[in-house]
Amino acid sequence: MTSDKCLLQAIRERIDAASVKRTQTRHEVRLLAVSKMVTAERVRALALQGQMDFGENYVQEGMEKIIKLNDLSLVWHFIGPIQRNKTTVIATHFDWVHSIDRGLVAQRLSAARPAHGNKLNVCVQVNLDNEESKSGVSVEDLPALLTQIVTLPNLCLRGLMMIPRPTANPIEQRAQFVLLRQLFERMGKLLSLSSKEVLCWDTLSMGMSGDFELAVEEGATCVRVGTALFGHRSSGGN
Ligand SMILES: *Cc1c(COP(=O)(O)O)cnc(C)c1O
Repeated sequence: MTSDKCLLQAIRERIDAASVKRTQTRHEVRLLAVSKMVTAERVRALALQGQMDFGENYVQEGMEKIIKLNDLSLVWHFIGPIQRNKTTVIATHFDWVHSIDRGLVAQRLSAARPAHGNKLNVCVQVNLDNEESKSGVSVEDLPALLTQIVTLPNLCLRGLMMIPRPTANPIEQRAQFVLLRQLFERMGKLLSLSSKEVLCWDTLSMGMSGDFELAVEEGATCVRVGTALFGHRSSGGN
């Protein structure tokens, strides 16, 4: 048994325990293994233990792994900032995008998605308190962006994503997750009232290595875990 497998099991168990805390019954939480700066061989090893969803931040690095591991039918999530000249590569190779933050990028992803296959699953990244250093749409601009995305033919709008403001205060940390969940619920209502399209609004992507249990307790349906699964990585290395 590799150490990655022990870690994977331990993290799954912690997610399950946290999901019970919230609803009394376990709710399904998608565990996304964030494999940036991790070799394709380690991704393969984890995949062979049953992990299916992987997240990548960098287009070129992600694409190389997707091609190398294409015999495994993994589900690939793009979670990094999106440059507009990378939208075609992303729309062609990935199954999900969590980091849409503007209409132009959404339009380009939809236009570039091959129309014969599945739609591209997308979440909109929200910047709750308009931090300068972070990408994401402001709460103010969110409704207009969402109502635009539901009309795009090759995207399936699934929900919201957030990277919380770093804080050592657990109360403040929890409060951010609660705010995003409330926003997710409000936006779901708004979309079901205003849109004629069939909605698949089911994804609240929040929680990383340091806070995924808290996020699940507050309703996350998808957690993005890197360091706790793969250990620390420095840029450029593995
Ligand atoms: C790197 C990254 C993660 C994983 O963070 P860890 O703290 O290593 O678990 C999650 N989400 C995004 C958007 C990231 O860039």
